[in-house]
Amino acid sequence: MSAILVYALHYDGAFNKNSLGAVSEGARLAGELGSQCDVVVVGDKSGLPDELCTSLGRYGAAKVYRVGGPEGLAQPVVDAMAKIIGENGYGYALFGGGLLGFEIGAGLTARLDAGVCMEVTNVRVEDGKLVSERPILQDSSISDVHYRSDVGVIIGRLNAFEARDSGEGSAAVEDVQVDFEPHSLKAKMVTRGEQRGADVNIEDAEILVAGGRGLGKAEGFQALEELARALGGAVAATRAVVDAGWYSYSAQIGQTGKTVSPKLYLAAGISGAIQHKVGMQSSENIVAINKDTNAPIFEFSDLGIVGDLNKIVPKLTEAVKARKGG
Ligand SMILES: Cc1cc2nc3c(=O)[nH]c(=O)nc-3n(C[C@H](O)[C@H](O)[C@H](O)COP(=O)(O)OP(=O)(O)OC[C@H]3O[C@@H](n4cnc5c(N)ncnc54)[C@H](O)[C@@H]3O)c2cc1C
Repeated sequence: MSAILVYALHYDGAFNKNSLGAVSEGARLAGELGSQCDVVVVGDKSGLPDELCTSLGRYGAAKVYRVGGPEGLAQPVVDAMAKIIGENGYGYALFGGGLLGFEIGAGLTARLDAGVCMEVTNVRVEDGKLVSERPILQDSSISDVHYRSDVGVIIGRLNAFEARDSGEGSAAVEDVQVDFEPHSLKAKMVTRGEQRGADVNIEDAEILVAGGRGLGKAEGFQALEELARALGGAVAATRAVVDAGWYSYSAQIGQTGKTVSPKLYLAAGISGAIQHKVGMQSSENIVAINKDTNAPIFEFSDLGIVGDLNKIVPKLTEAVKARKGG
């Protein structure tokens, strides 16, 4: 009956989608284990008011440990989680993934001498214990990871866990005082920057307009940015264009970039290489624009448009704007 402890990252008065997904997943698993899912939040108390913390109850959290400390840095969270796990005996620590999740999860694993599995896309209960499922061999196969350690650390693939807001429920809030290790306070957050396209964070965006080498040149992205703006989405890219310096790495989707699962993934001038596919294949709807009828991307698209993107994308933008009334 091992309880589950989840870390939730907040920013600008809200928890990110990835963290809410982890809380929902922790609550689902705790329900199956007959235990409970609690959450750790770390930050300045003024940025973590009661109503924000209790709202995690809507995602299934029973209790929220509110720790006063520096926000958005890994080591203070490692200290906080190690203390809370040590004092309360949690069986699992669960993270939603992303760079911070990876860093905290790895640090906590080392601190607790625990077992860890990263890039987890599903977790199941077997004989009263959690088993992590992790895609391997370029996502062509799934491996099962069992834990032998007292605490099992589970780090999800970014946005792999769905955030489920039940609309009701309120978590209890407990303030915890943590004496941070001296080394944990050496790093300072000077400023926090985010790569955004059309004012939407790429990992949380419900609509992504992705561009590949078929755009022809860096300036080709301007048309995609306009379309993304009209749709209320963000712009993503393939590695080919990132390597060519046409777009920033933070927008790269795929094996060596980000994994996303938006409601709509519109791929323009993208061939659909396996290394790109693994980062976007779980999108709800995939629409591809490609001039080559035999492009591999059409094999896993819901809708394929064969033609020149230079003609299609501006027309699509016009149509979206007209539909939205300008
Ligand atoms: C170890 C490793 C890791 C990798 N990691 C990644 C990764 O994380 N992400 C990633 O994306 N790739 C990754 N790659 C690279 C991957 O193999 C492909 O090379 C890359 O995804 C291709 O990008 P692309 O689709 O933009 O370009 P291309 O494969 O060159 O495709 C361009 C497409 O545009 C179409 N086109 C051209 N002109 C037009 C036009 N006017 N209108 C419409 N369509 C047009 C063409 O028909 C073509 O299908 C990795 C490769 C390796 C070896």
